[in-house]
Amino acid sequence: MQQAVLPNYVAGEWCSAKSTEFLDVHNPATAETLSRVPLSTREEVDAAAQAASLAFEEWRRTPPTERIQHLFRLKGLLEDNFDEIARTITQECGKTLSESKGELRRGIENVEVAAGIPSLMMGYNLEHIAPGIDEFMIRQPVGVVAAITPFNFPAMIPLWFLPYAIACGNTFICKPSEKVPISMKVVFDLIDQLGLPPGVVNLINGSKHTVDAILQHPVIRAVSFVGSSAVAKYIYSQATAHGKRVQCGGGAKNPIIVLPDADMEMTTRSVADSAFGCAGQRCLATSVVMTVGEAANTFKEQIVEAATSRKVGYGLDPEVEMGPVITAQSKERVQGLIHKGVSEGAQLLVDGRNPSIHGCERGNFVRPTILNNVDPCSEVAQTEIFGPVLSLTHLSTVDEAIQRVNSAAYGNMACLFTSSGAAARKFRYEAQVGNLGINVGVAAPMAFFPFSGFRESFFGDLHPQGRDAIEFYTEKKVVVERWPDLGLQPSRGSA
Ligand code: NAD
Repeated sequence: MQQAVLPNYVAGEWCSAKSTEFLDVHNPATAETLSRVPLSTREEVDAAAQAASLAFEEWRRTPPTERIQHLFRLKGLLEDNFDEIARTITQECGKTLSESKGELRRGIENVEVAAGIPSLMMGYNLEHIAPGIDEFMIRQPVGVVAAITPFNFPAMIPLWFLPYAIACGNTFICKPSEKVPISMKVVFDLIDQLGLPPGVVNLINGSKHTVDAILQHPVIRAVSFVGSSAVAKYIYSQATAHGKRVQCGGGAKNPIIVLPDADMEMTTRSVADSAFGCAGQRCLATSVVMTVGEAANTFKEQIVEAATSRKVGYGLDPEVEMGPVITAQSKERVQGLIHKGVSEGAQLLVDGRNPSIHGCERGNFVRPTILNNVDPCSEVAQTEIFGPVLSLTHLSTVDEAIQRVNSAAYGNMACLFTSSGAAARKFRYEAQVGNLGINVGVAAPMAFFPFSGFRESFFGDLHPQGRDAIEFYTEKKVVVERWPDLGLQPSRGSA
């Protein structure tokens, strides 16, 4: 049966796609076709940008206290429809239902934080910088802003941007991943009920050509991007060349260091969740563990057991702990990298290739995989695999491990497991990455902190979430003001 084509949402209305190009959206666990996503044209991007531009003048004049009422309503609707959105995420993205609920919770937290805009958006001032003169810094919205988001968090990552953007008085265009566009359709069905003025938020589906139209559009003043590093670099260079403000989160290859004094039970549980949770498709997934000294043997035994016993299958099954990877091409790529690791000399401790998953024979499944004694200079040690594949490397000192963290191309996250405060403190001080975990395997910043990233993992200055989001979505205007008070002037020559 031919599936329905997803609409765009422009100027407060759902509109049928004008494009003649579409992609099928598949359930990665079952290969069922869920929907068809249009690859929207330059004209459709222009219509969204014009609608957002038209809405901006009125929206920026709407008091922040009124703007945030829409966020309170959005929070309520997201809570009321929590289970349906989570199911949609699992169906189109493959993660387990509890992972989908976790992602949605993190997204809603951004709506909650952005509802504090009346305080967060305040400027500052100083009276009397010179006799009779005062100076103010006022924050004002940037204008029309857009976000281009990846497949692995279909609801959370758009919510890293949308709430702050509109709370600050901007108008917004979302371009979700063409691999998982249905979650945003469901969320925008709720946004449609908020009573926002038409054009304040817009949804445009598509892929590269749609993104290029966003990057080149003169009305769009700022672009937020999250995705792979190669595309992040492209977006950063193109958007800046077109005079836009840009923030681009890129890929990752996150190492975890395990010291011999770590609590091995807790370490193994945390590492297994980090490496195999969301089938390794998190930008905060670990894919390299560096054990130091005697940690090697105990950790190796326990992580092999955790990998082998992980229950893999359809994410809607409550027993399942790990779902599929996103596409058949991803599965092929991940399995190719496992093969590459072996050919580069690694020992295959657990082989997750081509599993048979009962009832999901057409799904894109790769079981947890462990490669041992991985050469740090090998391709498999340096490439972002984005699948449930963990490489083990054994080192002699924590200094050597930190040096490896710092010389890597990516700098998204690194974690240390230890019971030594001194080792933890040294790591916190020396490790050059954006997000750092100590006895934590997925160091995901809460909504009131920036989601950081160094080197190939981030291009720009201001990160998503927290105070950085307010900086990103506002212009700073500085006002120097003199109001001579004639009544207070000393009288000259009067009797
Ligand atoms: P991707 O780079 O393939 O796609 C991301 C977005 O860019 C999509 O909306 C897509 O339509 C668009 N796009 C793809 N190719 C393009 C091109 N050539 N020109 C213009 N636009 C293009 O990423 P993905 O596969 O959807 O997501 C996985 C990647 O995202 C991983 O590398 C992961 O590490 C990264 N990620 C990073 C973070 C972070 O915070 N740093 C968070 C989540 C995911």
